[in-house]
Amino acid sequence: MEKIILTGDRPTGRLHLGHYVGSLKRRVELQNSGEFDKVYIMIADAQALTDNFDNPEKVRQNIIEVALDYLSVGLDPEKSTLFIQSQIPQLTELSFYYMNLVTVARVQRNPTVKNEILQKNFEASIPVGFFCYPISQAADITAFKATVVPVGEDQLPMLEQTKEIVRKFNSIYGEALVEPDIMLPDNTVCRRLPGTDGKAKMSKSIGNCINLADDAETVRQKVMNMYTDPTHIKVSDPGHLEGNTVFTYLDAFSRPEHFEMYLPDYSNLQELKDHYTRGGLGDVKIKKFLNSILQAELEPIRAHRKEYEKDIAAVYEILRKGSEKARAVAESTLQDVKNAMKINYFSDTELIKAQAEKYKG
Ligand code: ATP
Ligand code: MG
Repeated sequence: MEKIILTGDRPTGRLHLGHYVGSLKRRVELQNSGEFDKVYIMIADAQALTDNFDNPEKVRQNIIEVALDYLSVGLDPEKSTLFIQSQIPQLTELSFYYMNLVTVARVQRNPTVKNEILQKNFEASIPVGFFCYPISQAADITAFKATVVPVGEDQLPMLEQTKEIVRKFNSIYGEALVEPDIMLPDNTVCRRLPGTDGKAKMSKSIGNCINLADDAETVRQKVMNMYTDPTHIKVSDPGHLEGNTVFTYLDAFSRPEHFEMYLPDYSNLQELKDHYTRGGLGDVKIKKFLNSILQAELEPIRAHRKEYEKDIAAVYEILRKGSEKARAVAESTLQDVKNAMKINYFSDTELIKAQAEKYKG
């Protein structure tokens, strides 16, 4: 069986560090590993419209932002198909058939959807389109016969839902769909990177992000304002690591060589943590250290972005070509699905013959 990747992002803002450690970095590694037959990367504009239907301009403006972020981290249109969801109408058609296979109660139990409904104040007025987005996501994944979906932890319930749809479809209509596997980051803190406010996951909709495209000074300011330990008032106070966003980010981003480069008084993260919890280590020092690490990681990404920004029309052309390619693949799966469901009346000569027989004489 072919090894195929499908994953994507909603064009609701520029991409941030959560995307980077949760999915983007892995995608680039997988793309370059040569182990995959196909890599599909989708800008999920139709999904973004389910909760931004009253602000289509936001979605429209952010398509290019997400595309630039993709290219700047190293997604390569020669190796990966970059496309826009709404340009593949086959996905909508698949969703419609999959909706029959899912109950309202099942979607209501989806913890990520539950959480997002609260966050968006949708309790009393959930748009049906938003409610159904896990089903449309199953269409996205299965349309490309994806075997691996590299995403953050918030996507676990979506993958579970997709697997259920695949099993149900295949058991009722025959084996037409492929069951995908989720691929979460190995480093557990990267599965759900918190926002700089330390509250929820870093999320475009909340605005607690460090964006990949932020300039050096903006990154520095965001790091210096990050949430740490509110009980760590004087430098001599013992500090706490639990819920301390700066340490969570160090868990996500620091590597042994960073100590030698930027903080040679310590030989590893554990030593730094021990000193912090003992007391006598100020927040400013660790924030400066984190800032150095992030700047080093983000600088090449910013530089790449600047290059791609010089020819925006070429970026749209990459998306146009990718969408065309993706459409053909989704069309082929849609035909498999309709054949399995026997929605193929005009090409089914057996059916026409049998009906004619029934009405003979
Ligand atoms: P929105 O607020 O519009 O939902 P978002 O910031 O949650 O935006 P998405 O486009 O929904 O971003 O997510 C795209 C991908 O990035 C998904 O695979 C998701 O799991 C991953 N991801 C998003 N935020 C984080 C995070 N904070 N930590 C790890 N992975 C994340
Ligand atoms: Mg999200």
